[in-house]
Amino acid sequence: MQTSDVLIVGGGSAGLTLALLLASGDYSQQLKITLLEQGQAPEPAPATLLRVSALNLASQRLLTALGVWQGLTANPAYQQMEVWEADSFARINFDATTENQQALGWIVDNQQLCQQLYQKLQQYPQVQCLFGRTISQISTSDEQSLVTLTDGSVLLAKLLVGADGAESKVRQSLQLPLTFWDYDQHALVAVVKTQQPHGQCARQVFLSTGPLALLPLSDPHLCSIVWSTNPQQAAELMAKEDAEFNQALSAATQSVLGVLQVQSPRHKFPLKMRYATKWQQQQVVLVADAAHTIHPLAGQGMNLGLMDVAALAELINQQMAKNLPWASPRMLRQYERWRKAEAQQMIAAMELFKRVFLLQDPVAKLVRAVGMKTTNQLPFLKRKIMAAALGNSGDLPQLARPVPVEL
Ligand SMILES: Cc1cc2nc3c(=O)[nH]c(=O)nc-3n(C[C@H](O)[C@H](O)[C@H](O)COP(=O)(O)OP(=O)(O)OC[C@H]3O[C@@H](n4cnc5c(N)ncnc54)[C@H](O)[C@@H]3O)c2cc1C
Repeated sequence: MQTSDVLIVGGGSAGLTLALLLASGDYSQQLKITLLEQGQAPEPAPATLLRVSALNLASQRLLTALGVWQGLTANPAYQQMEVWEADSFARINFDATTENQQALGWIVDNQQLCQQLYQKLQQYPQVQCLFGRTISQISTSDEQSLVTLTDGSVLLAKLLVGADGAESKVRQSLQLPLTFWDYDQHALVAVVKTQQPHGQCARQVFLSTGPLALLPLSDPHLCSIVWSTNPQQAAELMAKEDAEFNQALSAATQSVLGVLQVQSPRHKFPLKMRYATKWQQQQVVLVADAAHTIHPLAGQGMNLGLMDVAALAELINQQMAKNLPWASPRMLRQYERWRKAEAQQMIAAMELFKRVFLLQDPVAKLVRAVGMKTTNQLPFLKRKIMAAALGNSGDLPQLARPVPVEL
């Protein structure tokens, strides 16, 4: 039997970041950490850009503090953001300069981020990573958790962390209750070549069927698209020949960047809101997509998950600094309250956005257009919206907080 203090199930962005935060923290020598991932170890390779995420300033500050950001080569910044509605005068735009920011966000390659996190993690001898291993059973008590793998080995840990994504086996094994609803949309992602340069602007058009985002990549003529639409249209778009798809895409974006040409395979993801109503039980805790998934329209899912793990690591460190039990139920409940409040706000905002933009009757369209136009002319309100999207407001973990400006 192999024992550790913290056993993290799932080696995606959240699990790897948590392992690194705990390993590099002030009390790192006191914690033996095991990370268990069913897939293979992330191999160093050039960014494929097949799955990218828009990360905000809070995530950038956290990953910089961990020394990971510096190793990401394919993370172009975007300086502007433009959101509009098709067939309407509804439009709003944001600019980094007016917000006094270096950027409004960065587009990060998911695979490259995991590679960088894993590379850094290998510097810490107190962390053991087990790849390509599958769980057969999880049993928990008030003191510890026991995880049996299909190869017969047994892992014992004081704290078990479920960082195993949307279909979390940890969450299911503990029967932690889940609220969910289908957004009744699928997101189609691909890399596309644009006729006109994207000018480091992230664009999103709201169509009657859902939002379509154009995220600018390092190459001035390449964007990653996230096209959220009803399942039927998503299936049709997946089945189209490239030329036909290009036509549909260019028309849907209203040729804002001219003719678009798909450059990569297309992938499709069904979109579901999931929210675990309990994030901790006994010595087990959930983080990131294992606890919540949201619509990608505002590009906030990974940002939210990274803040979860930063919060959990911060509370564990605080307990250790005070010489208190570092994985106490009280601390786990504190983590749950802190992060649930942030996740709930995000879920509500995404739902509001989605509902408001799916209303298609002329009056609703007019009200929406006037609302967006008015907001666009109110710097104070725009700044507030932007501060939330950038990760400059809310109850942030310390490592992700903006550096106070000296007067
Ligand atoms: C189309 C789309 C676009 C998105 N765009 C953005 C964006 O622009 N910005 C943003 O912030 N977010 C975005 N997101 C959300 C973001 O991708 C997720 O929130 C984030 O990747 C979740 O990270 P995670 O580590 O929690 O989960 P995952 O990335 O799913 O990682 C979970 C890991 O656990 C492993 N695992 C699962 N089960 C087990 C098991 N039983 N045993 C061992 N290992 C296991 C898996 O193999 C995986 O490696 C987007 C999501 C979608 C679908």
